[in-house]
Parts: sequence; structure tokens; C-alpha cells
Amino acid sequence: MKTIGYAAQSAESPLAPLAFERRDLRPDDIAMEILYCGICHTDLHMARNDWGWTVYPVVPGHEIVGRVIEVGSEVTRYRVGDAVAIGCMVDSCQHCDQCLKGEEQLCREGNTNTYNSPDRVTRDITRGGYAKHLVVRQEFALRVPEGLDLSRTAPLLCAGITTYSPLRTWGVGPGSRVGVIGLGGLGHMAVKLAAGFGADVTVLSRSKAKETDAQSLGADRLLVSTDAAAMTKAQSSFDLIIDTVPVKHDLNPYMPLLDIDGTLVLVGQIGPLAEPSSIPLIMGRRRIAGSPIGGIRETQEMLDFCAKKQILPDCEMIRMDQINEAFERLERSDVRYRFVIDMASLKS
Ligand code: NAP
Ligand code: ZN
Repeated sequence: MKTIGYAAQSAESPLAPLAFERRDLRPDDIAMEILYCGICHTDLHMARNDWGWTVYPVVPGHEIVGRVIEVGSEVTRYRVGDAVAIGCMVDSCQHCDQCLKGEEQLCREGNTNTYNSPDRVTRDITRGGYAKHLVVRQEFALRVPEGLDLSRTAPLLCAGITTYSPLRTWGVGPGSRVGVIGLGGLGHMAVKLAAGFGADVTVLSRSKAKETDAQSLGADRLLVSTDAAAMTKAQSSFDLIIDTVPVKHDLNPYMPLLDIDGTLVLVGQIGPLAEPSSIPLIMGRRRIAGSPIGGIRETQEMLDFCAKKQILPDCEMIRMDQINEAFERLERSDVRYRFVIDMASLKS
């Protein structure tokens, strides 16, 4: 199938249109027309090769919503016309203990990312959602529940599940005290979801600039992480802190904020940490953990939860040809709180 997308050809080049082909449908594949695609900070990291493993040309995009336009001969789950969503994975081994538990994100063989991963059959590098069409096996498509606004659903597929999963893993509910470091795409979903679970939520931001926003998103307060006195006052007051900061940063100011047995879960930066001290870890039996996206089953659970509670991201809709400007703004944290590409703006 011929399609068109936007790709970066190198770490330095802006994204530009690219015509390419999607694979012929395998028996359990669906083909979809992409309607919306969210812009995750990971897309920016990958376009710029921040992690050193980008294969060019790269077509980013892993917050994808659209409609089924064709189904393979053995597809049972979807029909033409269904609203479907794709997140960060498009395949996994499907037989290891993790896949059998529905934790495909932890597949022992490594899951196949929606973009920049070798396809398990052809070894061709996968291409993501900054495009008109996508072909994907039915097991990795999510059903968009009735009542979710399609134009605001895409960011749930990465920012939503990446923050929902640790909230569930660490049993957040009424009475839990949750901190969220960085009020961006992931951070604002963490706030909405934690508030949706009935937690007491604090945003930890670099300045007071987002204070009113934090409260209207559902946070109980905003704590300025650069205000040493306020940080000291907040010691031992969190059960869980979700850290969404996208760059290397110092964890030492945050560790003492955890109560005994509290956990700081890293979901943002990938790479070496600036030397964390073991003192707060040992003395308070505190933990540092990490968490990658979530499994397919949990992603569906999250979508259903968001539909029921009407929890949706705050989106700024852009045209496909505004992508480079959007990347620049994302780098400056100038987005409230997720860019979404209206794929109708991408003409073949
Ligand atoms: P984003 O929208 O840019 O938000 C990041 C937020 O972090 C910013 O809004 C800002 O909040 C804060 N921040 C930015 N630069 C900072 C700096 N130099 N020092 C301290 N704080 C800073 O990004 P996102 O889309 O939420 O993604 C965040 C990170 O998560 C990225 O690295 C992305 O690759 C990663 N990610 C991981 C997973 C996973 O599976 N674990 C999934 C998706 C994304 P304030 O202005 O409030 O300080
Ligand atoms: Zn993402």
C-alpha cells in the first residue's frame, strides 16, 4: 500500500514529506487510515538521535488513532470502519511469560516498537504514525471506547499508559500521596489519572508558571522544585513520585520527599543518572524504579477508564507541516499539554 508520511533523514535535518509503502496485509493484520497522531517527546529524542539508535529515515509517531480500512483473512477482532488506536508497540514474541501475562512491553525477546524497530518477519524498519496509513497485527490494536473524543484520544496511547501503569503497579488510590515531576505531556496525564484514582496530587515544576494549570488539571498544589525551603518542608510527604523529566537531572533533591517505603519511578530520561546518594534510599527504605509504557491489556483498561471518567488530554491541534515548529516548542516546554497532528492536513 502506498502512503505518505513525514520523516527525518538525519539528526540535523527537519522533518519533511516521504512517500513509502506499507506491507501487504498478513492474515492477522489490519490496515488503518490514521486520523490523529500525538507528538511525544520520544519522537523528538528519536528524530535527533539523542539515544544513539535511530535508523534514518525515521517516521516517528506512537500515539495513533484512526479507522480500519481493510482486514486480513484471519482477523476476528476488528471490522472495516472500527475506531482503533495504536501505541508504542506493534509486535512481540507472544509466547514468553511476559507476553502471556499481557505485559508485552516486557517481552523477553524485546517488543517491536511502532517505529525504528526491525519487523519480526521482514526485518524492515518500522515506521510510525506521522503518516496517512498504518498496517499492524490485530493483537496490537486497541479499541477506542464509545464516548472518547477521537481528536483527543491519541495522547492516551503513550502519555496516558506510561503514567497509568505505574499508578496501578504501585497501587495508587484514595489517600495516596502522589508527586509528578515535570508538567508536560506525560506529567499532565499523570495528574489527571492520579486525581481520577482519588489521590492527593502535587506537581513538582521548575517554576510557578504552571500553578493555575496544575490545579485546573486536578492537582492539589504545585511545589516549585527550585525553591529549597519549600522542598525541605515537603520532606517525607509522598508515597509515589513519577519523574517525567526528559533530560539528565539530579535525583537527590527529590529522594527525601518520599515517605518511608516510598518509590520514585523514572519514566522520562533514558541514560545515565547524575549520581544519586544512597543515604535517603537506605535510611528511609526508599526506592528508585523505572517503568516502560504498559501492556496491551492494561492499555485497553486505561482507555476504558478514561472513557468512563472522561479523562482526556489537553491538546493543541496542529497541521502536519507545522511539525518542525512543534518540535522546537516541545523542546522549550512550550506546549499545554500535548500537540496532536490532524492527519487530514497531510495531503497525498
Ligand atoms: P514534555 O511534554 O516535554 O514534558 C517534559 C516536562 O519535563 C516539561 O514540561 C518540564 O516540566 C520538564 N522539563 C523539561 N526540561 C527539563 C529540564 N531541563 N529540567 C527539569 N525539568 C524539565 O515531554 P513528555 O512527552 O512528557 O516526555 C517526557 C519524557 O518521557 C521524555 O524523555 C520521553 O522520551 C519519555 N517517555 C518515556 C516513556 C516510557 O515508556 N517510560 C514513554 C513516553 C515518553 P516543567 O516545566 O513543569 O518543569
Ligand atoms: Zn511516547
